[in-house]
Amino acid sequence: MKTRRNFIKLSALGGAALVTTSCLSSDKDKSAIKTTQKTIKPIVISTWIHGMKANKAAWKVLEQGGKAIDAVEKGVMVVESDADNQSVGLGGLPDRDGIVTLDACIMDESNRCGAVACLQNIENPIAVARKVMDDTPHVLLVGEGALQFAKEKGFKPINLLTEKSKKDWEAWKIKSKYQPIINSENHDTIGMLALDADGNLSGSCTTSGMAFKLHGRVGDSPIIGAGLFVDNEVGAACATGMGEAVIRIAGSAIVVELMRNGMSPNKACKTAVNRIIKKHKDLTNLQVGFIALNKNGEFGGYSVYNGFNYAVYSKSQNEMVDAAFDRNW
Ligand code: ASP
Repeated sequence: MKTRRNFIKLSALGGAALVTTSCLSSDKDKSAIKTTQKTIKPIVISTWIHGMKANKAAWKVLEQGGKAIDAVEKGVMVVESDADNQSVGLGGLPDRDGIVTLDACIMDESNRCGAVACLQNIENPIAVARKVMDDTPHVLLVGEGALQFAKEKGFKPINLLTEKSKKDWEAWKIKSKYQPIINSENHDTIGMLALDADGNLSGSCTTSGMAFKLHGRVGDSPIIGAGLFVDNEVGAACATGMGEAVIRIAGSAIVVELMRNGMSPNKACKTAVNRIIKKHKDLTNLQVGFIALNKNGEFGGYSVYNGFNYAVYSKSQNEMVDAAFDRNW
């Protein structure tokens, strides 16, 4: 099956080198919890090709000794504000009723977290999620309440539906008769994980979710433990792909727990993907990918199908990594 992701041409990587292995640590490495002298920091990793420019923005914060939590917020905001990106923020594909609804969450080194779901008309949901974390005793605000909160915090409502996304929705309506399709073409999310110079981890995750979804549908991306999880003693993980499948196994929390028990980031992602495969009889169109980063700055990624990649910025170099995978489309 052809996917939007498969269409990503290597030429789009610009000057970046394409790395085909997917982690720095050996699967035999049991030292994920201990920070060693060899710790690679700062480092930031994020999902898909749009991770390249997101990493660049995050790196600006990290290279100046800034905090991981600020890096992961600033990083993904670049992708949210890109009107040409149809899977995140402004320009995101709408639900089946033509309404753009956004989901995002953020988590820091102290297990503080904030999230918004089904948020309309706000370009940078990650910044609203950050405010939920910083300024309220809550973790998750949804729908109208999230929008009201955003306005109170000074965010300006705008129209998020671009002409292009509107046209794509209109074309979809004719063919699909308002039945939301669940397949590989309707996904993409930016999830970002960073380890700062002080050795602290944070993460962020933001998406417009499944294209042409039922109005009100929320996937894994704003759910702490599913789309994103950070434990500063161990590591961090985030997910992309079919959110329902990720929620069913508490995906990102599982990846972090597997690292806690000694697995490398790569092996932990692979084990979580295998669990998804085991729990789902029908894997048609069920793409899920995880990325993970541990306390030592070691990273990894794994997906159900080929085609998933992520961007890694460390030691002043930003490059794409092809994730290992279980099967070919
Ligand atoms: N995980 C997101 C969701 O299910 C979408 C994606 O990653 O493509 O909403």
